[in-house]
Amino acid sequence: MINVKKLLNGEISCQTFEYEFIIEFSGTDYTFPSPVKVHGEIKNAGGYIPLTATCELEIVGECARCLAPVREKLTVDFSRTVAVSLEAEDEDDEYLQVSDGCIEVDEPIRDEVLLSLPMRLLCFEDCKGLCPKCGIDLNKGKCSCSDRMTDPRWSILKSFSEGK
Ligand SMILES: [Zn+2]
Ligand SMILES: [Zn+2]
Repeated sequence: MINVKKLLNGEISCQTFEYEFIIEFSGTDYTFPSPVKVHGEIKNAGGYIPLTATCELEIVGECARCLAPVREKLTVDFSRTVAVSLEAEDEDDEYLQVSDGCIEVDEPIRDEVLLSLPMRLLCFEDCKGLCPKCGIDLNKGKCSCSDRMTDPRWSILKSFSEGK
């Protein structure tokens, strides 16, 4: 909840806000070890009231290739327009509604974060993943299956360079 009474009555033309809230989603593979940190500002430009915010959070999930736990920082930009009076039928995701001088942003921020969650996590960019045959972590060791799966073109090159 952000109180915007002073902004609306013209006492101030810009205000900043900063707070944290706990985020939880069912139906994602991620967990959220710390609260979402939100900071932003609201301006009153002659009745047009844009709100911009930056949300910082951490997500924990599994590497899509090797299943190792991955902890990643995520920054989500959030911007909406504050609507002082809005007809019920005009309800739109682009607008934040003022109710009793306050606006509620947790829910829309929550939605924005949900849309911004990555499709998958990787423990590092070149993670080799697990061997599809024996399940060994190919970042940690090599198994004999990988030799047999080697591209045949490579072995031709190999024998070529060895045969000189
Ligand atoms: Zn990995
Ligand atoms: Zn293997």
